[in-house]
Amino acid sequence: MAIATVNPATGETVKTFEPFGPDEIERRVARAEAAFRQWRTTDFASRAALLEAAADLLEKEQDEIARTMTTEMGKTLAAATAEAAKCVKAMRWYARNAERLLADELPSAADVADSGGSRAYVRYRPLGVVLAVMPWNFPLWQVVRFAAPALMAGNTGLLKHASNVPQTALYLGDLFRRAGYPDGCFQTLLIGTDAVAGLLRDPRIAAATLTGSEPAGRSVASIAGDEVKKTVLELGGSDPFIVMPSVAGDLDRAVRTAVTARVQNNGQSCIAAKRFIVHRDVYDDFAARFTEAMGALTVGDPMASTTDVGPVATEKGRTDLEDLVADATAHGARVLCGGRRPQELTAGWYYRPTVLSGITGEMRIHREEAFGPVATVYRVDDADQAVRLANDSPFGLSSNVWTHDEDEQRRFVRDIEAGGVYFNGMTASHPAMPFGGVKRSGYGRELSGHGIREFCNVTTVWYG
Ligand code: NDP
Repeated sequence: MAIATVNPATGETVKTFEPFGPDEIERRVARAEAAFRQWRTTDFASRAALLEAAADLLEKEQDEIARTMTTEMGKTLAAATAEAAKCVKAMRWYARNAERLLADELPSAADVADSGGSRAYVRYRPLGVVLAVMPWNFPLWQVVRFAAPALMAGNTGLLKHASNVPQTALYLGDLFRRAGYPDGCFQTLLIGTDAVAGLLRDPRIAAATLTGSEPAGRSVASIAGDEVKKTVLELGGSDPFIVMPSVAGDLDRAVRTAVTARVQNNGQSCIAAKRFIVHRDVYDDFAARFTEAMGALTVGDPMASTTDVGPVATEKGRTDLEDLVADATAHGARVLCGGRRPQELTAGWYYRPTVLSGITGEMRIHREEAFGPVATVYRVDDADQAVRLANDSPFGLSSNVWTHDEDEQRRFVRDIEAGGVYFNGMTASHPAMPFGGVKRSGYGRELSGHGIREFCNVTTVWYG
């Protein structure tokens, strides 16, 4: 894939970039390693001051970088601005909390004595240079969610961003440099996927994190595994959104949230709710109102404040979506709304918000991630069937459940196979809460104390 900004709202190539050659890659890896040797010895206060400075810069520049993101991958300008603000918040959160999250841990005095020692503690030391392979869907957030904790822990970072967001990628490298980070602490590599294996095999790279598709994750993790290097993988999701009868009086809010959860980021979010699993007592009402609301969304120019849903980020992304819908309808799915491109928008990669019903196990969309504004609705008889259907997916990233019944809530917490269970709302990440999945959604966690400790050498210090 060429490294280029191609505006998904028009299909026009705005700017192309030459990938870095071997010499430039070598220079940057060497710089990252040299920087690590110094950076690992700095204290939390000086790391925090730099991260706060980067957050201040980003806050000042958020309108400008939001326009770049919208131009590169088509999210609405409002969503892009909100993404930049979320990054500022996460940077400040890690600047203020990292020291506490990485404080030495003390075993009990009895356990220390039992080990034959006089004193012991656990220290979280940094690992080294971490390679981050990142996707285009939240081009700022996915990177900051890695970089803020990694830098606070004393690691240095190399970013291989998705080939369709090069300007955002360059902005990120520049942001940390301008904030005053020592040379080499965080650098962008403009490279294609062909250069990733060499980096993973380079002894100077200690670990890798990847957010993206399952094939990309499998490739990076298998090479890193061969090199015995730590990885964190955040892959796709097909999160369930379960609606039970106890929320019948609150159905308007459930429907509004369902629509937002499905079409956020033009439908291209790993934690977007994708499968709507609705109890038969409220199914007809929910399906009718959800379909009406999805059909009423304004699709158009992502720069316009009146737009709800912009284009899909790439032409291939839209083709993939069309193939999924075509496969479903060929196997008998009903199109309740959408199911096609908007006729009035001839340029760009737009797709109408779509709701499909009558989904069966033989349809690809039942098992694959629909990365665009396409929802599937299922009718179930009870909580048992809802849980079975929710878990009938290769993915297990997060889940959304609407119920006011506390017995049901306990049951869903116990049984849903996912890295999150969000009640009466929608999944949204927060710096203080771990984020990540099970099954084919990946492994490891980002954010919170769990995230910052992923790239640490958990060291036992013991005195005889
Ligand atoms: P990819 O997984 O292909 O891209 C994500 C990142 O991985 C990019 O930087 C990409 O680089 C890189 N990459 C891709 N293949 C390899 C490889 N073999 N070795 C090393 N790095 C690699 O996502 P796509 O953009 O192609 O999207 C495809 C599907 O992935 C989507 O439809 C969606 O289902 C899922 N996805 C999930 C995301 C999530 O948030 N969980 C985010 C994005 C996609 P390059 O851009 O140069 O190819």
